[in-house]
Amino acid sequence: MSSDPMQQLHSWLKDAHAMEEQAEQMLTAQAKRLEHYPKLQARITQHIDETKSQAARLEECLESMNTSTSTMKDLGGKFAAMGQAIGGSMAPDEVVKGSVASYAFEHFEIANYRALIAAADQLGEIRIKEVCESILQEELAMAKWLEDNLDDVTRAFLARSESDELSGKR
Ligand code: MG
Ligand code: FE
Repeated sequence: MSSDPMQQLHSWLKDAHAMEEQAEQMLTAQAKRLEHYPKLQARITQHIDETKSQAARLEECLESMNTSTSTMKDLGGKFAAMGQAIGGSMAPDEVVKGSVASYAFEHFEIANYRALIAAADQLGEIRIKEVCESILQEELAMAKWLEDNLDDVTRAFLARSESDELSGKR
């Protein structure tokens, strides 16, 4: 099955939009349960705002293309498995599992925006390329932050487990 290149770009932008809506849900669920990790919570809250703005910027791109959306397939739920790992876990080590899954998810986003940038460039869609480049920078920054903080988060979780054990909380 082939489609014309502009239709393809539109379809990928729609996928990215669905990805960001999923990201917002996951991050919001995750942020609620991080009261013992204020630094992580603050960074995730910042990224929720960025994510909402990313979805809005993608919507503008989609509207600017003026392609009928009725032919586009709905991708809702496609990222449900990853969402479960990031925002849906109730496991005691969810802060660590969530940080690992978030780190992976940011790289999934990075890969998608790199492909979108190449597609927009090839089709001469300069504005869409610029939007995707600006979003890419936010995803790279978030991935870098998670990378830089995964060590601390993991140690903080273990230290909390240890003190809970000593005080008989578990
Ligand atoms: Mg994003
Ligand atoms: Fe992101």
